[in-house]
Amino acid sequence: MALPRRSEPPDAGLIPRPRSFAYLPGAYKPRAGATLSADPTFAAEAAWGIEALSSAFTVRFAPGAPGKGDVRVVRARGLGAEGYRLEIKTAGVRAEASEPAGAFYALQTLRALALIWGDRAPACRVEDEPRFAWRGYMLDTVRNYFEPSFVKRLIDLAALHKLNRFHWHLTDDQGWRMPVRSHPELAETAAKKVDRRYLPHVERTLVYSEAAIADVLAYAAERHVLVIPEIEMPGHVTALLSAHPEYSCAGGTFEPEDRFGIFPDVLCAGSDEALGFLGDVMDETARLFPGPIVHFGGDEVPVERWADCPRCRARMEAEGVPDVAALRGWFTRKAAAMLAERGRRAAGWDEVVEGAVPSDVVVLAWRSAERGLEAARAGHDVVMCPGAKACYLDHKHLDSPDEPGHLGVSTVRDSYAFEPLAGFDAESAGRVLGVQGNLWTEIMYFGRQVEYMAFPRLSALAETGWTPAARKGFEGFSRRLPYWGRALDRLDVARYRGPLG
Ligand SMILES: [Zn+2]
Repeated sequence: MALPRRSEPPDAGLIPRPRSFAYLPGAYKPRAGATLSADPTFAAEAAWGIEALSSAFTVRFAPGAPGKGDVRVVRARGLGAEGYRLEIKTAGVRAEASEPAGAFYALQTLRALALIWGDRAPACRVEDEPRFAWRGYMLDTVRNYFEPSFVKRLIDLAALHKLNRFHWHLTDDQGWRMPVRSHPELAETAAKKVDRRYLPHVERTLVYSEAAIADVLAYAAERHVLVIPEIEMPGHVTALLSAHPEYSCAGGTFEPEDRFGIFPDVLCAGSDEALGFLGDVMDETARLFPGPIVHFGGDEVPVERWADCPRCRARMEAEGVPDVAALRGWFTRKAAAMLAERGRRAAGWDEVVEGAVPSDVVVLAWRSAERGLEAARAGHDVVMCPGAKACYLDHKHLDSPDEPGHLGVSTVRDSYAFEPLAGFDAESAGRVLGVQGNLWTEIMYFGRQVEYMAFPRLSALAETGWTPAARKGFEGFSRRLPYWGRALDRLDVARYRGPLG
């Protein structure tokens, strides 16, 4: 492949755009028997780098003697938790970082250049660090189930984009994908589903095994991606109620849903048994997911069943809760407190702010950017993921009946244009942890379809999460995108290639 001219493409086609980039003369083309060495602090990153570079270049890398590799990763002061310097010359590559995540991102940039340019990387000097600490994506593995191999593939693609948070949506009306050792009945009922992706339709148990979760977590940790599990409560629990109808207010018979929407039957706020069950689930979540944050949902909770329920009314009386709307807040505060008892910080969708949850609850603003601002003003740390024309990647790329997607159109340009701090005062802006793209999968049945919906909009959001606002620009992004597409092509990513909007 021809080498780039000095100014084209900008930043050698990298996405997200580095904080500082300058071309140097020539290119680095690894020789046969190339080696990589790293400061012992970065041993894990070096091990990952040897594998990643060996598949991105066409040369097999081997570990190098300390200080002697063709690619050297050295420790330097003052580059921050995720920052790095990278100097690529014809003779070799030198990377500097202060912390392991920075070393990882230096090697990730080298990998990305190799994926774009084939067997070589343009010589250049990069100084880089992220704008936001939380650069996330959410995958809904309930509406459709995705094999652990795809969950891992998406983690790798996210890490290529320097995303570092995977929000794993594990329970909902349509299924319960979280293994709970103390409640095997969930796998018997709530995780059972007629799998309509295949003909003939067959009933399958679609739950992740403990081993699969451990494998995903190890894979994510290797890529500096923190996994945030989401266990939905008190709404979006139809699948759970199929195993435990007694946890609903009115009882009855439930099946994991095939429809989508908001369903009236939620967990009974007056049921001590339901709360005890949630405690068991949280114990198990804390055991399987060692990360500091657990998401407990809290969105779209109808209160009509609570209004008619003697147990819920008794709870309100006992707890001094004035009305059923306030009972929603009582429930979310209870859930957050139960997670805190287990040493976990709670995260919830933006509805939880109305429940006056403690201010240490992380709020994911999905309904609108204004909800994010309200949450920040209420003292919450906020992740910005508003749906419309921004962060919901199940919307169509283009207003066409032939494009997959629903609930609206969000072009690549729309996603790119989303500015998480627009309208924020300085104090509230300081509470924004970052940005996240959400992949709700009601109409995505297979991993390849998820990829098509994710890319390149998630590439655009990744740049918003990483690159300083002053360095962003759609014109530059759209000039880099065809080159970045080569990297995605090398990894066989199914991506949208139409008008950017
Ligand atoms: Zn009730």
